[in-house]
Amino acid sequence: MYLTDYHTHTRLSPDGEAPLTEMARAAVQAGLSELCVTDHYDLMQLDGTPFTEPYDWDPAVEQLREAQAAFQGRLTLRLGLELGSAPFFPDRAQAAVDRPEVDFVIGSLHNMTPEAGGGDFYYVDYKTPEICYACLDDYFGSMLRLAPMTCYDAMGHIIYPLRYMNLRSGQNVTLDRYQDQLREILRLVAQNGRSIEVNTYNGRTV
Ligand SMILES: [Zn+2]
Repeated sequence: MYLTDYHTHTRLSPDGEAPLTEMARAAVQAGLSELCVTDHYDLMQLDGTPFTEPYDWDPAVEQLREAQAAFQGRLTLRLGLELGSAPFFPDRAQAAVDRPEVDFVIGSLHNMTPEAGGGDFYYVDYKTPEICYACLDDYFGSMLRLAPMTCYDAMGHIIYPLRYMNLRSGQNVTLDRYQDQLREILRLVAQNGRSIEVNTYNGRTV
């Protein structure tokens, strides 16, 4: 079987620690044939303020070249990005990924709309179902805006906020009320020639 991983974060991401060469070694040991680096670039910060610095591709390209040289013939390495909040800053989102070295972009939403304060879904205290559904209304509204955009290849972790609502906060939120919206999002993604990510976060046991 040809195994790949197209959602990975190296030390160039705030939530990553390992250099790419170390991750490439682990990937080979795990039997992967291909690994794509998708470090974070979010156009909004955790507190909801816009992040206005352009993405610094130089260290990303540098560690890619280094790992490609070290693992030549054993692992195919590709360069990507996990791009957050694209619908709120479409021009800057498109500019960030317009680089010849970029193979693959995950379009993600980690933050609420600027109108709703823009905060990261991670930091919301999901203490009532009402709070959860207000966040999901905002979230899926943003996904509808993201779906037809050209700055991404795969839509990232579509049920992202649920991991904090249900797994972390013990709520029992379902997607029942979003079925029509989800169908429309997926239709737009397909019509746009894009794909969705198979994110296995919820398969984690630790
Ligand atoms: Zn993400």
